[in-house]
Amino acid sequence: MKSRFSSAMIFAREHANRELTTTMTASAEKVNLLGLPKTDLEQFFVERGEKPYRARQILKWIYQHGVSDLDAMTDLSKSLRTTLKDSACVSVPVEEARQDSVDGTVKWLFSSGSGQAVETVFIPEPARGTLCISSQVGCALDCAFCATGAQGFNRNLTAAEIIGQVWHANNNLPMRSNGEPAVTNVVFMGMGEPLANYRNLVAVLELLLSDWSYGLSRRRVTVSTSGIVPHIDRLGDDCNVALAVSLHAANNRLRNRLVPINKLHPIDELLAACWRYAKKHSNRFITFEYVMLRDVNDSLANADELAALIRGKPAKVNLIPFNPFAGNEFTRSSAETIRRFQERLRERNIVATTRKTRGDDIDAACGQLAGKVSDRVRVRLSKKNLRMASA
Ligand code: SAH
Ligand code: SF4
Repeated sequence: MKSRFSSAMIFAREHANRELTTTMTASAEKVNLLGLPKTDLEQFFVERGEKPYRARQILKWIYQHGVSDLDAMTDLSKSLRTTLKDSACVSVPVEEARQDSVDGTVKWLFSSGSGQAVETVFIPEPARGTLCISSQVGCALDCAFCATGAQGFNRNLTAAEIIGQVWHANNNLPMRSNGEPAVTNVVFMGMGEPLANYRNLVAVLELLLSDWSYGLSRRRVTVSTSGIVPHIDRLGDDCNVALAVSLHAANNRLRNRLVPINKLHPIDELLAACWRYAKKHSNRFITFEYVMLRDVNDSLANADELAALIRGKPAKVNLIPFNPFAGNEFTRSSAETIRRFQERLRERNIVATTRKTRGDDIDAACGQLAGKVSDRVRVRLSKKNLRMASA
């Protein structure tokens, strides 16, 4: 039987320690250069008596040339490469499995040690290649309709394990016809709650955005959150990326049931943080994700309630047809119900779209990512634990 937790959980101190250790020591005592933001890399070189610009060279090799072998970094002198190899490495994710959907979607399973694994999905479209990445092994937030939540939580992924998903995808997919890397957009919509892994999230965002590494535009990077309000404010200060918020219900009674973190940060608090975020970034639209669950949140009255919450605000709605998984109580709303719900929102002057389900045949759709999660950690959801998660 699946283990479900009665209250949502975030993080455990011992796992925070484990995470730090994994980041810094990928193999024996060597520092894993993958996942280190520029300032950390510069510090690494300065501490070893080298010039800080070495950091920029390494970043280009790893992220722009896809090189993980220090010996292949030929603009570093041979002696530097030799000393570097004593203390550093570029340790990339280990692919455990790959599945290719008939519609071109690709799903990878990456080992995260101790029998655990996380999933990453690539969704090709004519104008873009979107990579949906995981931020945690499992998730503690226990949303009622989510396969990852049903798995429980083991640990945060390190920055190397998160950015490594992008590295692996770019290294294992053909380039686009214009000669650019396959991944043009990144969404944090895989396993886990990215804002509950804040420090590593920000390191990864920097690597995604910086011209020294992937150089993606801010519009092409989306963080999706179930609503950890203090971290939304922090992200607004630290990083100007696109924000998606998993709303799924427009009243607290229903949202408490579907998204338990709502008990800690109810809808009015969440929306206030969203409008603050939008204001900091020239009123850029926030996307509200709304999973369509038959006879649960899909009536026209639900649509009206949703419209009333966000009317006149910098907001758009993305309806997600529920993707079923074994052992779950919910059913997907019919296509006709979704169409009418979307139309009703539009009649109320809300920008609304419906997400196309991709990768159905390989269980790669939203909310179906389960990876392998064992050795689950229980931590009660509380504001104190949230503060620990953001440390
Ligand atoms: N933890 C973050 C990001 C990962 S989940 C968050 O919750 O936003 C990515 C998206 O998939 C979220 O909007 C989530 O609500 C949605 N989702 C989860 N389970 C789903 C399911 N079974 N069917 C459709 N969407 C689902
Ligand atoms: Fe976690 Fe997001 Fe799934 Fe909720 S929907 S359990 S926050 S991954």
